[in-house]
Amino acid sequence: MKNKKFYELSVEERLAWLEKETGLARETLNALCGQAGLTPESADHMIENVLGTFALPLGIAQNFLVNGREVLVPMAIEEPSVVAAASYMAKLARAGGGFKASSDAPEMIGQMQILDLDDISIAKIALESHKVELIEAASDIDPLLKKLGGGPREIVVREIQESAIGPFLVLHLIMDVRDAMGANTINTALERLTPLVERISGGRVLLRILSNLADRRLARASCTIPVEALAFGEYSGEEVRDRVIEAWSFADADPYRAATHNKGIMNGVDAVVIATGNDWRAVEAGAHAYAAHSGRYTSLSRWTKGKNGELVGELEMPMAVGTVGGATRVHPSAAAALQLMNVKSSRELSEVIVSVGLAQNLGALRALATEGIQRGHMALHARQVATAAGAPTDMVSAIAEQMVSEGRVHIDRALEILNEWRTK
Ligand code: NAD
Repeated sequence: MKNKKFYELSVEERLAWLEKETGLARETLNALCGQAGLTPESADHMIENVLGTFALPLGIAQNFLVNGREVLVPMAIEEPSVVAAASYMAKLARAGGGFKASSDAPEMIGQMQILDLDDISIAKIALESHKVELIEAASDIDPLLKKLGGGPREIVVREIQESAIGPFLVLHLIMDVRDAMGANTINTALERLTPLVERISGGRVLLRILSNLADRRLARASCTIPVEALAFGEYSGEEVRDRVIEAWSFADADPYRAATHNKGIMNGVDAVVIATGNDWRAVEAGAHAYAAHSGRYTSLSRWTKGKNGELVGELEMPMAVGTVGGATRVHPSAAAALQLMNVKSSRELSEVIVSVGLAQNLGALRALATEGIQRGHMALHARQVATAAGAPTDMVSAIAEQMVSEGRVHIDRALEILNEWRTK
């Protein structure tokens, strides 16, 4: 095990290394490696019509330094290359001091749709003049949240002038949900406020639901990579930097490219969101809605040249994730993932996640703007193709290597090689 890189270790050796490095009990780590994860019995309490559970590969990204703290990042993802790219880009970022990250207060937005109003402007004024009463009414709904320093913060009333059913009002309840993702907290508060809102406005409340465009709960990460650290193969550091900026400019200017560029960011983001038992559909919805907040869908990240010629990356996006609530504590693997990351709050978790998103973004841009992604990707992809062709575990690597060396990574070729070996 000595002198071996983490990726060169066997699964058992990786577990032993983590046990030693983190001081976490083997029982906890077992929940991350499938030996003690979610049981069908527990799953049966989580959703409906349960048959069992569905597993994904869980890898650990290395080299992450976020706000000066070392973090081991659990990533649940089926796509090859993502964990390796995140780890490698985190190593490059480390050359410039790692990731600097920050986040807003964990404030979520709940929406109420108010219909059947005689006069929208008068109803709006009435609701605005009762803000204090509304906030007071909402503040006792979740006593635990109140005790933890969370609760309602603001009421915002918006007019929707044009819609298929004509004009109506929308009331936003802004709540600090502390370390929760906050959907249940918000939805409960909205339902409880309904009679009061109807009385004040004189209207009928229809929808009461959280908004996934969590633009009051943004997390941001940046990194500054010295140009020397970017050089590799035949490419100088300056060349890599300039190509990354050119590649980013494409996503910045074109929604067709931005969708794929942001998907690359979400490769990193979702993998951590899933590993920690958080709602990745909510984070996805927030990310893409925020990417269009200027009125034109664009890149969530930004890459520029720094004062001393370094490559500077920045990412800002909504990050509605929790360290309590939802499945975060119910799913044993998610609870273990949070322990492994040693995050103390939802904000700290969100800061690590955006850092991973930024690393992933750099991985994709760097590969695309230099040697292309297929070279690195193919070696891993070939293993999946060999497995899909039915290769026994001990033959997967050899078949994959042969397909890559021949430049023919297809299931037909894997089957041919397998047959050739069987008949030898
Ligand atoms: P939750 O209701 O399970 O937990 C939140 C509760 O935990 C709070 O009300 C509070 O009483 C308690 N709590 C204990 N310690 C806390 C702390 N330190 N900080 C904050 N609260 C603390 O979960 P939730 O986060 O309100 O809801 C998340 C779930 O809602 C997810 O499973 C999500 O999938 C689901 N959901 C999402 C949507 C959506 O995204 N549109 C809609 C509905 C439901």
